[in-house]
Amino acid sequence: VNAGIISVGTELLMGETVDTNSGWLAARLPALGVRVESIMTVGDNLVGLVEALQTALCRFDLVLTTGGLGPTEDDLTREAVATAIDEQISIDPKLLASLEGWFRRRGMRMSKHNIKQAGIIPSAVALPNLKGTAPGWWVEKKGRVIASLPGPPVELCHMWECEVEPRLRERSDGVVLLARTFKTIGLAESTVDEMVAHLHGTDNPYLGIYAKSDGIYLRVLTQASTRMAAMELMRPIEEGILSILRPYIWGVDDERLEDVVLNLLSEWGITLATAESGIGGVLASTLSTDPAGDPYYLGGLAVRPEEIDHVPGVTPHMISMFGAVSSEAASAMAEGVRKWFGSDVGVGITGLVGSEQEGIGVEVGTVYVSIAHVSGTLVSKHDFPPRRELIRRRAVAVALLELGQYLKGLSIP
Ligand code: ATP
Repeated sequence: VNAGIISVGTELLMGETVDTNSGWLAARLPALGVRVESIMTVGDNLVGLVEALQTALCRFDLVLTTGGLGPTEDDLTREAVATAIDEQISIDPKLLASLEGWFRRRGMRMSKHNIKQAGIIPSAVALPNLKGTAPGWWVEKKGRVIASLPGPPVELCHMWECEVEPRLRERSDGVVLLARTFKTIGLAESTVDEMVAHLHGTDNPYLGIYAKSDGIYLRVLTQASTRMAAMELMRPIEEGILSILRPYIWGVDDERLEDVVLNLLSEWGITLATAESGIGGVLASTLSTDPAGDPYYLGGLAVRPEEIDHVPGVTPHMISMFGAVSSEAASAMAEGVRKWFGSDVGVGITGLVGSEQEGIGVEVGTVYVSIAHVSGTLVSKHDFPPRRELIRRRAVAVALLELGQYLKGLSIP
């Protein structure tokens, strides 16, 4: 089964909303034996949308649309699907009653514009939307399927899980696609490519290499009639990757660097505090997204480089001697914040992310990371490409990576 995804909305074309829906859907289809061959964005324009649907129906067994199911004039997905397959929309009394009930239960008046959301065509069944008003459509015609889902991600996810995925699983033609991602750090994309060059070149298994903010990812895809067979196909390439890149691999699949660190902290039962200068508290924010880390991540300080001496342990004298972006400043931050919070481990990051602070003796993109523990303090220096956002994200990625490696090597009694 092959598929095309169409995300609908002029706001997507204007860059006002980032299309996360198609990526979310695309990540879920391979496991159901569906190969995504195209992702397209179309504005709220009936002619363009009909054309996109007709082209997709010529090429793909399955067409997924997201967005454009709302009540307003510019929500045109229903009309476009009906036109593309030459059917007429009529109002379904049951859908209308359920929409009216939705508004009544919330003490709201239903606008007459919402009536169109109760529209249906003969080849469609309505997919209930328990998170919003817009029902989806599951359309089957001439061997093709169109699944139209709402735009708001929370509605889309819920409708996918309750309505669309089970239907696709039932229709699965016995082909299983297996995907595995190896996440590396410390090597350039071209170096990784060169190191695994001998594993490239086949469609099944297929190896792709991607640069991400937290390193270089290797993604292996295999396709077979059973999961076991797909795993067998995956094995040699997986072993090949591990034998060459093991020291650089920090995680697989959905694993995130912060999860690796928080798991190690909880495993060892040790606590952490952080201090950041110049990177705006990204490390603290990353470490505090998962409440499971709360008992181990005690907190963090984030300062601008001009105010780095507000971090406990950092003195104006030290900064005038070595500079705010220096190995001395990073280690003083790590040690100072460790004492201040009373944590077992302290991390200090100081970096130069923009040219407005140039003239302090280092290049934009220079970052020092320090890890302090009762057994000693380590510092590393990094030079990232001079782009603010990239520097911030890379700084956090290397800090988490080094912290993970440090925690793995700790000999806790
Ligand atoms: P609604 O009933 O809310 O109008 P809808 O199906 O008509 O639902 P849209 O109006 O197209 O959806 O989009 C509603 C909101 O959903 C957008 O403002 C945006 O925040 C989000 N959204 C839409 N499409 C996408 C997308 N492809 N990726 C991420 N978010 C999206």
